[in-house]
Amino acid sequence: MERLQKVIAQAGIASRRKAEDLIKEGRVEVNGIVISEMGYKVKKRDVIVVDGKLLEKESKVYYVLNKPKKTICSNFEDGRITVTSLINCKERIFSVGRLDYDTSGVLILTNDGEFSNMLVHPRYHLSKTYNLTISGILTGHDIKKLKDGIYLDDGKKTLPARVKNIRREKETKQTTFDLIICEGRYHQVKRMMQSLGYEVRRLHRSHLAFLGCSDLAQGEYRVLKPFEIKKLKALATKGTYEHLVKE
Ligand code: URA
Repeated sequence: MERLQKVIAQAGIASRRKAEDLIKEGRVEVNGIVISEMGYKVKKRDVIVVDGKLLEKESKVYYVLNKPKKTICSNFEDGRITVTSLINCKERIFSVGRLDYDTSGVLILTNDGEFSNMLVHPRYHLSKTYNLTISGILTGHDIKKLKDGIYLDDGKKTLPARVKNIRREKETKQTTFDLIICEGRYHQVKRMMQSLGYEVRRLHRSHLAFLGCSDLAQGEYRVLKPFEIKKLKALATKGTYEHLVKE
């Protein structure tokens, strides 16, 4: 059983707030009866009609995109290209979490709010692997700090991270490496590196848990396979943090 306003919103005809207005205004019928009570619960087979039109329930869709740089994750139209505009589908999709305008890599897009909440919930610590290039030569001392957790500008300590595949380029005075973290705090990677005195010059998310995007060129996407959705859900409820710190 689901709340009527949620089902209307999920069908993609209105936002949750607008769906509430439609109900309040007496424009919604369930099995032939006008429902104006907020929070009314509907069953799968209930027939919902909005403004005289049968509500077609939107099926759930799941995509993985290799997000190109210079695209934004919000649907706010400010002249920049949105990630949702890169996906050819009629459903009202949104990105699961966000990557910055200048960050590329793995991004899931879906219309399944519950799935999205599971994946971004801080309790579950799904691992994220970032490949990045920073200004300067990353020192062993700073690697230890990243592994132990560091305090960001908000005074909160990060969970232990892993550092792999370090390539120190003495000539260009920069370092490229993989950083694996289990959180998704605002601008987290950039803030972590900034707190150690480095500047991030390139940032690419190569994996979200096991899910990579090396089979996709930037801007390309594909439908997630059922086993991938199932595995992500399982990891999201179990978390990958324990596994990460034991390695
Ligand atoms: N951390 C950042 O700083 N930016 C991103 O886009 C992702 C993680």
